[in-house]
Amino acid sequence: MKICTKCALSKTRTNAVPGVGKALSRILFIGEAPGQSEDIKGEPFVGAAGQLLDSLLSEIGLSRKTVFITNIVKCRPPRNRPPSQREIATCTPYLDKQISDIKPELIITLGNFSSAYIFSKAGLPFTSITRVHGKPCEAIVLGVRAAIFATFHPAAGLYSAKYKEQLAKDFQILKRELASRAAA
Ligand code: URA
Repeated sequence: MKICTKCALSKTRTNAVPGVGKALSRILFIGEAPGQSEDIKGEPFVGAAGQLLDSLLSEIGLSRKTVFITNIVKCRPPRNRPPSQREIATCTPYLDKQISDIKPELIITLGNFSSAYIFSKAGLPFTSITRVHGKPCEAIVLGVRAAIFATFHPAAGLYSAKYKEQLAKDFQILKRELASRAAA
């Protein structure tokens, strides 16, 4: 991934951002694409949205060391524009390989892009994040049996108090889901 040149994002990036965390974590978080801070550091969610993600994680007793965090697109789109469908199609074989290797029990998708992608891989209908968020559903993604849990992108929580509150509520549902799985 670090040396990938499969699309034009490789020409404008500083660093590719493969992901960070525990190699074989039970829990996989998937965001959209690196922003400026991530591009500089080569690590996902290290800017403002990342700080909100860290605090949401810590509120439910998780940390970057116990989960794995990545994005559907591994290089920063210029000016932080949304990734194109072509860039997603070119880059997602890397995410697919990460899912097959990690075999997470729980896949948490942050925002519309990663949610739409994972729902489609699981053969589930995806309407919008507003409709599907906060509801864990059992699925098979690339041969891996996992619960999918969609929530809002942390960046949405930075500009809207409503989404920030909704993210906090979704993370509490996530906490209960994790507790019930640990007990099972
Ligand atoms: N937004 C994302 O979706 N991913 C990052 O890594 C940073 C911001």
